[in-house]
Order: sequence, then C-alpha cells, then structure tokens
Amino acid sequence: MTTLRSVKGMKDYLPKEVPAYRRIEEAFARVMQRSGFREMRTPIVEPTALFVRAIGEVTDVVEKEMYSFQHHDEALTLRPEGTAGVVRAYLQNNLGNDEPVTKVFYQGAMFRAERTQRGRYRQFHQLGAEVFGDPSPAADADLLVTLVVFLREIGVSSPEVILGSIGGKATRAAFRESLVDFLTPKLATMSEESKRRILTNPLRILDSKHPGDRAACEGAPSILDVLDADDQSHFDALRRYLDALAVPYRVDRGLVRGLDYYSRTLFEIKGATEKLGAGDTLLGGGRYDGLVEELGGRATPAIGFAAGLERLVIATEENVAPPRIDVFVASEGAVGRALALANELRSHGISVECDGRGASVKAQLRRANAVDARFAIVLGDREVSDGVADLKDLAARTSTSVALSGMAAAAKAGLEGPPAAGEQAVSS
Ligand code: AMP
Repeated sequence: MTTLRSVKGMKDYLPKEVPAYRRIEEAFARVMQRSGFREMRTPIVEPTALFVRAIGEVTDVVEKEMYSFQHHDEALTLRPEGTAGVVRAYLQNNLGNDEPVTKVFYQGAMFRAERTQRGRYRQFHQLGAEVFGDPSPAADADLLVTLVVFLREIGVSSPEVILGSIGGKATRAAFRESLVDFLTPKLATMSEESKRRILTNPLRILDSKHPGDRAACEGAPSILDVLDADDQSHFDALRRYLDALAVPYRVDRGLVRGLDYYSRTLFEIKGATEKLGAGDTLLGGGRYDGLVEELGGRATPAIGFAAGLERLVIATEENVAPPRIDVFVASEGAVGRALALANELRSHGISVECDGRGASVKAQLRRANAVDARFAIVLGDREVSDGVADLKDLAARTSTSVALSGMAAAAKAGLEGPPAAGEQAVSS
C-alpha cells in the first residue's frame, strides 16, 4: 500500500518548529491589544461569492488560486485571505453599531493554489487586522507604526515600509485610461495574460513579473501624479505623521497590490533579509473605503493588512527552545502511584512527563534526558511504602531526599531557584 503524503504545498508544523510560530503569534496578540485591537475569528469556509465580490473577479487569487467546491447546493471556498470574511462578519453581526470605530485582529490558515517555493505555500497562515469607521490618515499612520513595532519586537531588525496610494474611484478610472493608452502600443511583447487584462484590469499589469510586461511598464505613468486634491492631502498627511513617528518608509510610485478592493493608502513591509529570496514581502495591506458598501453595508471607511506567518518565522529564524519538562517521573512497579504523583505535581503548575511503559529505570532516565527534564523522580514500591523519594537534579547531578507529601513544594523551589548549570549542586 502506498503511504499517504500531505497535499502539495501544505506542510506539517512539527513540535520543534511550533515554538517559533507561537512566539510570533503571541507577540502579535500582545502588540495589537496594546494598540486597541481585539481578536476575532471567522470560518475557514465561506461562500465563493464573497471572495469573488470582495477580491475581484479578474485577480490572480480568484481566477486561479481558490480551493472552491460544491457542497450540495452551496458553492464554497477555503478562504484565500482574511479581510473578506471579517467584513462579512462585521456586517452580519452589526459590529459597527456597538462602536463607531471597530478595530479587530485575527490569525489563521489561508489557502491559495499557488506555485510553491520557500515562503510560499498552498496552506499558510496570516496575522491580520482591520480598522472600520476611521477615514483619517492618522488611522493609517497608527496602524503602520503598530506594525513596525510588532516586527521589531519579534526581531525583524530593519523593517521597511513601502508606501503608495491608489487614489479613490474617480482617480483610478482616469489613471486606468492613461495606463491603457501607454501600454496599448506595447502589447505585442507582453504576456498573454496582460493582453487580456488590458481590457479587464489593466492596473494589475503593473504588478506582473513577466519580463515583457516589466519592460513595457518601464516609464509608465504613476497614479501618484494624478491623485485628486483629497487623495493627495490624505497621502501627504499620512507621510507627515509617519515622519513625526520616525517610521522608516519609502514611496513606491508603481505600487499596486493583488486584490481589487484597495483605495487610497497601499503599503507593503519588507524585512532587510536575504533569507526570503523572491518572497520577501512580510506583509501587505491598504485602505478599502468602498468594500463594506460593496458587500451590502453602509459606506464605511476601512484599512487593514495581513502578514504571512511562515515568512515572519523565516525572516526572524530565531531558535526558540521548546518548553522544558520540569519533572520526569519514572516508575519501578508503582505505575498507579507514579501517575498520581505526576498529576499532583501538574496541579501545582509543574510540567511532568510520566513513564509507565514498564521499561528499565535506566531506559526511563535516558528518556528523561532526551526530553530535557530538569528533575527526575524514580518511584518504586520502597519509595511508596517509605513515603520518601529522591528528587534528582539532572543538570547538577545531585539528589535530595524529599517526603512525597512535600514533593510539589520541593520541585517548585528547585525550579524557581537559579538554573543548575552543572556547578551548582543542590546538596542532599
Ligand atoms: P496578500 O493577502 O496577498 O496581500 O498577502 C499578505 C501577506 O501574506 C504576504 O505579504 C505574505 O507574507 C503572505 N502570503 C501571501 N500568500 C502567501 C503564500 N502563498 N504563502 C505564504 N505566505 C503568503
């Protein structure tokens, strides 16, 4: 029988890797809460129509990358991103009625059938946030400074904000025309996809990696040159706030992003790291002032972002040690009592591994070392009848005789003391 393997592009997160992920998830929750965001969770499966309407029909994600399926009479899709679901939930649960400004963050698995490479997977995880109800450039600046603080806190040493503006609807329509005029004479050397997109979604061509498209886009007009007065003053104010907050950024005149729903502010953050190669964008986001209305709500300005958790792990690549086992309880016959002792210690907040396999004491103590336990206790019939057992300090190679009734207190005291580095003997 052939052994089954995980789906292409979907990886396992092994026990030795997960602490690095958890460290970042916890830092994210901490930093976002400090900036007034509250966590929310939405389903992994949503109606396909939600993503088609929110992300846009003529986008890479919707055209090629969604995991969609029919379940009875429902067309469903594994979420490829988080914003559409959060906006749906915001509307469905009337979150905007509770407070004029709603700030939420989320984390979870996303699915896109992309070509896989380092930092690009078909199941990946995003950390994201959305702010509803605040049109001000101050909201944009506050979100960006929060993200820079988060990235620094997890060890991305020089996060660089890349900033652009895509204007409002009117600006985009005017820009679209001038871009089509600019690109049309160059169509012959462009990709088949762009030949199609020039009719459906020409802005996306600016984002193409195809060499012919890249060459054709050289010298293309920038949307920054045609912003209307309101878009321009929004962008200028955001830049002034970022300067005042000492957030490092550079303006990219050609920045466009993969999803259709953006308006005005667009941004990406890259980390100064070689580790990610082509997929070096740690996070991306922007303002989407029209999306809530498009999905059936009242006109509500909004801004959000999403970061790729896997990329943050690669970029920080910190060796995060797995949590240690505090006490290893080995048993020599008295398995039931060993289990009871282990659980009593656990009830005091001590992490305990208990070995009831019936293996030799030597084999059990080898395991204690393998799991990097700090202390070990061997519980046999004699210890049970005496009510006393040795608490072995595995690092200092010393042991103390302790009454079983006082074992939790003794273990706690040992754990709270200075870490044994071999030279610190706990005298018996
Ligand atoms: P997007 O939702 O496309 O704006 O992506 C936001 C962030 O999610 C990117 O900057 C990446 O860090 C991450 N991301 C997007 N697609 C993938 C993927 N296929 N695998 C891993 N991370 C991804």
